[in-house]
Amino acid sequence: MSGPAPADAAEVLAELRQWIAASWDPELSLARWRAMLADSGWACPAWPREWCGRSLSPGLALAVTGELAAAGVPGPPEGVGPALAAPAILEHGADDLKRRLVRPTITGEVTWCQLFSEPGAGSDLAGLATRAERDGDGWLVTGQKVWSTGAATADFGLLLARTDPGVPKHRGITCFVLPIRQSGIEVRPLRQMNGHASFNEVFLDGARIPPGNVIGDPNDGWGVALAILAHERRLAALPAAAPAGAAGRAWREATAERIAAAEPHKWYPQRAGRPDLVIERARAAGKAGDPMVRQEIARLMTMVWAARWTAARAAAARAAGRPPGPEGSLGKLASSTIARQSARVHAMISGASGMLTGPQSPLNGTIAEILVSVPAISIAGGTDEIQRTIIGERILGLPKEPDVSRDVPFREVPTGGT
Ligand SMILES: Cc1cc2nc3c(=O)[nH]c(=O)nc-3n(C[C@H](O)[C@H](O)[C@H](O)COP(=O)(O)OP(=O)(O)OC[C@H]3O[C@@H](n4cnc5c(N)ncnc54)[C@H](O)[C@@H]3O)c2cc1C
Repeated sequence: MSGPAPADAAEVLAELRQWIAASWDPELSLARWRAMLADSGWACPAWPREWCGRSLSPGLALAVTGELAAAGVPGPPEGVGPALAAPAILEHGADDLKRRLVRPTITGEVTWCQLFSEPGAGSDLAGLATRAERDGDGWLVTGQKVWSTGAATADFGLLLARTDPGVPKHRGITCFVLPIRQSGIEVRPLRQMNGHASFNEVFLDGARIPPGNVIGDPNDGWGVALAILAHERRLAALPAAAPAGAAGRAWREATAERIAAAEPHKWYPQRAGRPDLVIERARAAGKAGDPMVRQEIARLMTMVWAARWTAARAAAARAAGRPPGPEGSLGKLASSTIARQSARVHAMISGASGMLTGPQSPLNGTIAEILVSVPAISIAGGTDEIQRTIIGERILGLPKEPDVSRDVPFREVPTGGT
C-alpha cells in the first residue's frame, strides 16, 4: 500500500462529518451506501485512493472508522473478504485482479471463504496436497479442503494449492482466487459437537480457475499465505451491531446482513468462554462466597485484564503504522487460555447441571454450549502449540523447530499412506 499522505486529523474528521451530513440518508439501500463509502474513500481510509481509500495513516484511518460508528452510519462489511482477501489482493495482486475484486468486496457485493486447511495439512499448512495444473491460460484444481467456514454461501475462495511438487514444500504453492459456484466443486457442511454447522468440506474435482486469478506469482504463494495468516489473528468475527435508535432501509439491510453473517458464528461468544457471565452466575448459584470459586474467578479476571492491556498495546502499535506481526500470536494464545479457565469456572459454579440444555438448564443451555465450544478456540486460526512455536521462534529468538521435510522436494516427502 502506498505511504500515508500527511493529513491533519481535525481537518480529515471535519471533512468526513461534512460528507456524512451531505450524503447519508437512512432510506438508501445498504448497497448504494456502501458504494458511496467505497467511492469517497471513507470505506478503507488507509488504502490508496483508487482502491476505496484515502492513503491515510493507520492511526487516522482508525479515527475515521470511529467517527463513522459515532455518526451512527453502517460501515463496510466485515469478514474474510474485506479483512483477508482484499488486503492480499491489494498487497500482492495484479491491477486487473484489483479492478475486478477490491471494490465489490468492499461494497459487500461478493463474499469470500478461506480454503487453506486440508485433512492432512492444518498446522503444517505448507504440506498441502491439493494441486492446481495449467489448463491453457487458466488452471484446474483437484483435491480436498476442510474446516472451510462459510464456504456454503461464499462466491469466492482464497485458495492455496500446490503448483510444483518438484521443489521443497514452501516453494511450490500458489495463492488463487477460486470462483466457488461451479460444477467442479462440492461443498458439504459438517455438524459440530455443539450442534452448529459452521464449517464445510470442499471437494475439488477439476474446478476451474480463470486466467488472471493468481494472487502474487505462481509458486510464490507461501509469502502471501503468511501475510493472510497474520491478518487472520486479528479478524473480527462479526460486523458491528446497529446502534440504539438506528432506523431506515440501510440499517434494516445491515442488520439482516449481520444476522446472516452471524449464522456460522452464533456460538463464537461461547467458544470464548463467556468470562463476562461468571460473577453473575456465581452470585445466582449462591457460590460467590465459596473460597475456591472466588480464587478461580480472581485468576480468570487477572488473565482477562492482562489480555485487554496487551491487545490495547498491539492496537496502538498498529495505529502507529506497524504491520500485524508475531505479537498477534500472544493475543490468540491468551484468548484460548482465558476461554479454558472460564469454562472451568463455569463448570465449578454449575456442577453437573452445566451439562444440561433446554429451558430448565443454567442460562437456557448457554453453559453447556460454552463447555462444548471452548475447545475450538485453541484450534481455529492456528493451534495453541503453533502459537507457542511462533512466539518462541519469532519473539523470543529460540532456535527453529526441526522439520525434516523442509528442504526435500514435496513429492519425496513421506505421507501417512506411503
Ligand atoms: C472454529 C474453526 C474455524 C476454522 N475455519 C477455517 C477456515 O475458514 N478455513 C480454513 O482453511 N481452515 C479453518 N479452520 C482449520 C484450522 O486452521 C485448523 O484446524 C488448524 O490449523 C489445525 O489444523 P488441524 O486441525 O489439521 O490439526 P493438526 O495440525 O493435525 O494438529 C493436531 C494436534 O497436533 C498439534 N501439532 C501439530 N503440529 C505441531 C507442531 N509442529 N508442534 C507441536 N504441536 C503440533 C496441534 O497443536 C494439535 O494439537 C478452522 C478451525 C476451527 C476450529
